[in-house]
Amino acid sequence: MRIRVLGSAAGGGFPQWNCACPNCSAVRAGSSRFSPRTQDSIAVGSDEGSWVLLNASPDVLHQIERAPALQPREGRKTPIRGIVLTNGDLDHCLGLLMLRESTPLVLYATKTVYQGLWEQNVFFRTLERFQGHVRFVPLEIGSRVSVFDGVSIEPFALAGKVPKHLEGRAAASPEDNVGLIVRDDRSRATAVYAGAAAMTIGLEAALNGASALFFDGTFWSSDELIRLGLGTSRAEDMAHLPIGGEGGSLAALGALSGVRKVFTHVNNTNPILDSESPERGAVERAGWEVATDGMELVL
Ligand SMILES: [Zn+2]
Ligand SMILES: [Zn+2]
Repeated sequence: MRIRVLGSAAGGGFPQWNCACPNCSAVRAGSSRFSPRTQDSIAVGSDEGSWVLLNASPDVLHQIERAPALQPREGRKTPIRGIVLTNGDLDHCLGLLMLRESTPLVLYATKTVYQGLWEQNVFFRTLERFQGHVRFVPLEIGSRVSVFDGVSIEPFALAGKVPKHLEGRAAASPEDNVGLIVRDDRSRATAVYAGAAAMTIGLEAALNGASALFFDGTFWSSDELIRLGLGTSRAEDMAHLPIGGEGGSLAALGALSGVRKVFTHVNNTNPILDSESPERGAVERAGWEVATDGMELVL
């Protein structure tokens, strides 16, 4: 299977429209140490040319135009066979509304995520233009679902939160935020995508035999936003495990070997975006890569 990183930034993208932090300012100024990034999404494809999107970011149209393999060959036949949602956050779901041009879509999500989107939100009626416009396939934690050509996905629960817009309206559920195990039965390759993860519970089992891991790289430190004077929340308050520090993901996942380890969903404030920062150095010395838009893996 093929994996293409469509967008490697956390919600807001890089640069973020309302931000003049050192990173956003430097990338706007064209510094060679930084690359702009769109919001988090990964495409999984087969040699036959079928693809599914893992999350539909608000940047999805732009991401498709930069990926020839995802573009239609004739008429309105898209090679995108489905869209998988890992949670109900707008940076992962808003792109669905961008894909509303009357092409039937298959949507894979947990029931909790689906209900949070569809039942509370009149906008989504734009994806009910005809019967069968969106075919919903429920994802259940621990169950595999085939998506195409021998490729299957299996969700596992990640510690997380209800989406911001549902706070106070929906009770927390293990189905709010899932990671995905993506398996190719033909090449026997497995990739794990845990793009927004507060903790690594469930990850160890998911990683059994995996050849690639895409993991939450939102923040380097817990108090990153506070120290920059940009916010009052700590990383953990937003259900993200920071990369650095004693309890960070670099320490927690340090022993992993034989797996290609990639940080993605990187927030615009994170110093690992600077190719010459000590934090980027630390990540690379520990064997991790930092995802960029357009990065491809063949597994
Ligand atoms: Zn996100
Ligand atoms: Zn910024």
